Amino acid sequence: MILKKLQDISIKLKKGQRLSKQDGLRLLDSFDILAMGKLALTEKKKKTADQVFFNVNCHVNLTNICVSRCAFCAFSRDTDDPNAYHMTIHDTLERVQAALPAGITEIHMVSGLHPDKPFGYYVDVVKTLKQEFPSIHLKAFTPVELKYFSDISGLTVAEVLRQLQAVGLDSLPGGGAEVLSERIRQKLCPYKASSHEWLDIMQTAHMLGLKSNATLLFGHIETAEEIIDHILLIRRLQDETGGFQAFIPLPFHPTHTMMTSCTKPTACEILKMFSVARLMLDNIDHIKAYWVMTGMQAAQLALFFGADDIDGTVTEEKITHAAGAETAVGITKNVLISLIKQADMLPVQRDTLYNVMERY
Ligand code: SF4
Repeated sequence: MILKKLQDISIKLKKGQRLSKQDGLRLLDSFDILAMGKLALTEKKKKTADQVFFNVNCHVNLTNICVSRCAFCAFSRDTDDPNAYHMTIHDTLERVQAALPAGITEIHMVSGLHPDKPFGYYVDVVKTLKQEFPSIHLKAFTPVELKYFSDISGLTVAEVLRQLQAVGLDSLPGGGAEVLSERIRQKLCPYKASSHEWLDIMQTAHMLGLKSNATLLFGHIETAEEIIDHILLIRRLQDETGGFQAFIPLPFHPTHTMMTSCTKPTACEILKMFSVARLMLDNIDHIKAYWVMTGMQAAQLALFFGADDIDGTVTEEKITHAAGAETAVGITKNVLISLIKQADMLPVQRDTLYNVMERY
């Protein structure tokens, strides 16, 4: 039974009408998460029926040394920190080689903004990975990294992207968006790409034929209006380019960050965010529950609240674990399949571009 308060939203959805900013704010303000979940599940089924997607991938984080030192980041280090590291190209090859027996189809590569590495290093990493593993999709570099490459090389972002594409970059991840609000970025991450730059870089990438994802880091200092505005900015760009494959709500992990006074989002807050994302983003096909950050249990529940993708096997995740994530650093395909089956949905192994590889 949909609460009277949400009935007009339910009617709009049934008619296929797009929800407004006001609708989004009312959803975020509502505590009837079961009603929202029901609406979101209906919208999910319109797009992907009972399918839930996952992939088999490995994560590579070239370095944790970063000049930006964002307040919410537990991963980054200064150069002289005893826990600072950076990978050589050889290390990178070894990491991927070790993941091959699992049948990976994707390398997901994001890293800190290293003060000394020239842009040519990243070109060489991509080129070498593609030469060694030509059939593996390389999804790498957030708009924040791409803006940094542009700054250190003097090239335009478009030229940076063209050079990376020419040697094997296949698509972009969705990170670095945090909350697309200048108020928040000035407080939490003033030294990296602004909201407009993040959006402009995604637009450029989409125009060059590169697909990407989009994220939202929630549960810190943001307001409800800033969350909805973030979602609307993504929706507007998607209307223009169609380049976003999935939207990924990421609950903030405060441990070991400069924001330890924040508390982790609760299960209700996480599930509500998935529902709101599914209901507002009528033009993005997939809502991804990144289990590393939501936790396994919430990721499974998110499938009833609008999510249709549970990300991948991930080996070996470093960024969220630096912030105290209690999830595994990687997981097997069978665990993901079983998690999806327990929710009475159909596990579908996909490649990065959502081509179906196998149904289980
Ligand atoms: S979030 Fe990214 S840019 Fe910010 S400090 Fe961490 S690694 Fe650096």
